[in-house]
Amino acid sequence: MNNRNYQRELDFIIKENTERKVRPSLLLHVCCAPCSSYVQEYLQDYFDITLLFYNPNMDSAGEYEHRSRELERLVAEAGYASKVVICGYDPENFADISRGFEEEPEGGARCRRCYELRMRKAAEYASARGYDYFTTTLSISPYKNADWINEIGEKLAVEYNIKHLTSDFKKRNGYKRSIELSKEYNLYRQDYCGCRMSRKGREGEMK
Ligand code: SF4
Repeated sequence: MNNRNYQRELDFIIKENTERKVRPSLLLHVCCAPCSSYVQEYLQDYFDITLLFYNPNMDSAGEYEHRSRELERLVAEAGYASKVVICGYDPENFADISRGFEEEPEGGARCRRCYELRMRKAAEYASARGYDYFTTTLSISPYKNADWINEIGEKLAVEYNIKHLTSDFKKRNGYKRSIELSKEYNLYRQDYCGCRMSRKGREGEMK
């Protein structure tokens, strides 16, 4: 745990861009429609947003499709200006990075690798297409480690020569607002994170 205030850092970036009258482009990695809802509502006033749905951690093609369709429906129904890019489902990439880490608890080393896998795709995509910034919706979840997410983002920013947009979207009631928006649009809110280990963990809790 470090003592950085990521929300304050994001405020500063937004203020600076606003004062310079620039509206940067942002490639936003999205894990699911509910998590993206507040983030789109919040950032759409300041950025031209493209959403990248890339989540090879999903435990089945059906789940992948369901979550990606919900994202497209949300954007259409809420009238967000975001463009949506849905990547193909490639679970072998998640299998590669999670091998040997299957027994890790949720929030442990497997998850850090999972964040990086998805954020790397976003950094690569954004850098190749000349976006100003990239970031991910992942920090909206109270179960995800915002320090790790920002550390990974900053490392990838150097590797891919693109700016990482600092975030801790759960702040300012972001998580609470995402639940309100999910209810408003009747979004599918999955009860497990995504991988088969998280599904098994959830099923174990419910027994
Ligand atoms: S629990 Fe979630 S973040 Fe962790 S590895 Fe599984 S899908 Fe990825």
